[in-house]
Amino acid sequence: MDGVLFDVDDTLIDTRAAFTVAWEVAVGQFLPALGPGDVDAVVRSWRADVDGYYAAYTQGRMSYTEQRWRRVNAVHAEHGGPALDEAEFHAWNTVYEEAFQGAWAAFDDALAAMDALRSAGVAVGIVTNARSDYQRAKLERAGLDVPEVLVGVDRFGVGKPDPRIFLAGAEGLGTDPARTAYVGDELEVDALGAIRAGLRGLWLDRPGTRRHEIPDSTVTAAMTSGVVPLPSLTHLAPTLLNPPAR
Ligand SMILES: [Mg+2]
Repeated sequence: MDGVLFDVDDTLIDTRAAFTVAWEVAVGQFLPALGPGDVDAVVRSWRADVDGYYAAYTQGRMSYTEQRWRRVNAVHAEHGGPALDEAEFHAWNTVYEEAFQGAWAAFDDALAAMDALRSAGVAVGIVTNARSDYQRAKLERAGLDVPEVLVGVDRFGVGKPDPRIFLAGAEGLGTDPARTAYVGDELEVDALGAIRAGLRGLWLDRPGTRRHEIPDSTVTAAMTSGVVPLPSLTHLAPTLLNPPAR
């Protein structure tokens, strides 16, 4: 492999943990009937996003603000909270965003995984389904060296799994897509999306962190398509640099 492109959220950054911190604050202010013990269920709903609002944003079908407003209200509806009007949503968002940004932190294995690749002469970049300036700030806050190549959803107005965004990442690195790997925590959008774009696709399947239930048959089919699962980023450089003999 000549290049590796990383996803950001739940791959390099422990976004789920930051969501939990942010929702603890938001639940306290906006869902007072719930207690601290309910926060995990709220975060599960938020991450699952069963109505696909965030996906609609990454497909250019909904603005960032609209998807977030609808998504909060969907979570509130599920957990007995109020439907926020526009002014209330903006108040919610200020509270939530401050707590969320304050909790941005990298996974313990992220920095070492990037360094191991760089030391081996592998080019490293980012392809993400959020805005590039927001993700740059997130990576900086988390203490990671922000790669020069960082392609966000703002590049084309659409995100993964659109092949253009993966190919733009490889082009930025100056690497052949077939010799470029993509690693992310979402099987469809990240690993299979990368493979469909002509890259290698690695699926970071950290134990206990899936957003949805994924049947074993789906995982098996993905592996048949070439997806390589990884339980942590510690496994990334050894997997790419010392592939097992066939
Ligand atoms: Mg992710």
